[in-house]
Amino acid sequence: MTVVTLTGCGESPPPDAGWSAEKDLGVNWVRGAAEYQALAMQAYHQAERDLPGFLEDRSWSAQPGQKNAHFLPTAIVFDVDETVISGVEFQLAVERPVTQAKLNQWHSEHQAPAVPGFVRFASMARAAGVELFFISNRPCERIEGIDDPCPYESTIVNDIRETGVEIDAEHVWLANEREQWSKEKLARREELARTHRILMLIGDDLSDFIPCVREAPSAPCTDAATVESRQRKVTEFSGYWGRGWYILPNPMHGSWMSFDEP
Ligand SMILES: [Mg+2]
Repeated sequence: MTVVTLTGCGESPPPDAGWSAEKDLGVNWVRGAAEYQALAMQAYHQAERDLPGFLEDRSWSAQPGQKNAHFLPTAIVFDVDETVISGVEFQLAVERPVTQAKLNQWHSEHQAPAVPGFVRFASMARAAGVELFFISNRPCERIEGIDDPCPYESTIVNDIRETGVEIDAEHVWLANEREQWSKEKLARREELARTHRILMLIGDDLSDFIPCVREAPSAPCTDAATVESRQRKVTEFSGYWGRGWYILPNPMHGSWMSFDEP
């Protein structure tokens, strides 16, 4: 398997000397396959079809465990990278190893294309009165030489705006932006569930939907996930896929890559 790991700052995996963007099947597929575009559109079109029903059914929530939320305003949670914007050109351009700092630098200098289907769906959801939140694991931390305490957030806000979807920093929730907001996204989803009825989760990584699916667990998860535990969870929550949860294809990077092949 070709390894293209997106790591947090501070982690420094050995460079993968044998890797080449031109030969990477996942990168090539996202970049060139019409099938990639069709799958992304399929996810967003299904979300579009489901939205009116979820707005009407006030007992509905896409966040397992959220109850009695019928009186709350509604929200949709999006991941950002490979859900809203495509990083395929970054994957082609970056020198390995990939780091968050390199990702931020690239996105601050380039306009990334929107994932097919996102812009139309986001506009439609907003017109229906739904608030859009973006929960990303790009980190909220300082970069040496920059005054902004959370420079990654400014970049991500611009990335989303560049798709044509207006957004402010209050709706972009990064890892470590507040205490308790670890890389595990559950705490952020639960916090949002206190103020909003969550209609949908949209992401490209299992962790955008289900907690404790990483090989290296973050609080509150304590155990390392395995290939088998991840597959069990997908089955356990099978009713949500394509009905409240919409997953975009990403063969380039993600929590799935930490595991040995089964
Ligand atoms: Mg992502």
